[in-house]
Amino acid sequence: KKLGIALVGLGRYSTNQLAPALQETENCYLAGIVTGSPAKAEAWKQQYDLPEKNIYNYNNFDEIASNEDIDIVYVVLPIAMHAEFTIRAAEAKKHVICEKPMATTAEEAQRMVDACNTNGVKLAIGYRLHFEPFNKRVMELGQNEIFGKVQSIKAADSSDMTSGSLDVWRLDKERAGGGPLMDLGIYCVQGAVYTMGKPPVAVKAKFGEVTHPAYFRDVEQSVKWEMEFEDGVVAECETSYADPEEKKLLYGEAENGWWKLDPAYSYEGKKGETSEGKMDFPNVYEQVNQMDSQAESFRNNQESIVPGEMGVRDMKILMAIYESAENGGKRVEIQY
Ligand code: NAD
Repeated sequence: KKLGIALVGLGRYSTNQLAPALQETENCYLAGIVTGSPAKAEAWKQQYDLPEKNIYNYNNFDEIASNEDIDIVYVVLPIAMHAEFTIRAAEAKKHVICEKPMATTAEEAQRMVDACNTNGVKLAIGYRLHFEPFNKRVMELGQNEIFGKVQSIKAADSSDMTSGSLDVWRLDKERAGGGPLMDLGIYCVQGAVYTMGKPPVAVKAKFGEVTHPAYFRDVEQSVKWEMEFEDGVVAECETSYADPEEKKLLYGEAENGWWKLDPAYSYEGKKGETSEGKMDFPNVYEQVNQMDSQAESFRNNQESIVPGEMGVRDMKILMAIYESAENGGKRVEIQY
């Protein structure tokens, strides 16, 4: 049976990526929606031929418990709303996929995992790059030591928000939990960790200068940080919301070779090369692969390869990076 997914929050990612992907998935399909906007409810109902009974708003959402068409709730809201809707979905006995970053703090993320465990449902994070050939190759190159032991990593994910609207949740700490580190830096954290196949033992971080104070009253404009792994390997990372270069880099150097994905994290157009030449992989619809894999694991009562626990781990790393940056770059060790 194809599992029914209800998307919660019909913003850009749901509209442009997830709903179209759900027209191509084999193990799951778009069965319902949860939205605060009656106009969007009507438009989506028409476009995707959704039955009225599978359309919810944020208030009556808990009634989803009795809807047998919905097996999975996919939370695609601003970050500070992830915990509430993940926990409400778990209490409605639905499996959950939650977008990245999982929450605004590690404690909140742990409560989400606990709620899913208590209610006997599975939780996965929307980490799409684990389902994509270029990044999967980097996991193999790093973790299987194909060019020998990894010696250093560089990762950068930045965008430029400084000509757009000021009135967006990503610039509002209350709704976003933080700035580019939360939204984009998470990809660098993930990239370095899946290159190494293990999490860092410590971090050191510095906030960048604020050159656009109108935009960055509330959240950081940029951060540079180092993640230190066992054996002293260091990943040098950076993220920014005010970088015209819009970097999307994941680079690794090992004893006998190197690799580079650039762009590494965009939905399309990934490119990669190694010290042995160009990487030749197709660009796939990674959200299709992601949701199909997650639906398959839920159906088999197994953990996704990107489970809630991975999200908690990453929140611990993000919080340590903030702690270091707020304390002048002091070395912060991380307990998992
Ligand atoms: P968006 O701003 O386009 O959409 C957010 C949605 O939440 C909108 O439909 C909005 O109406 C709704 N919403 C409900 N309450 C809100 C409130 N108080 N303030 C603002 N919006 C509110 O954002 P998006 O880019 O679709 O991001 C949504 C989530 O998806 C985020 O967690 C983001 O990190 C994640 N995301 C993931 C990827 C990925 O590649 N995995 C890509 C983009 C976004």
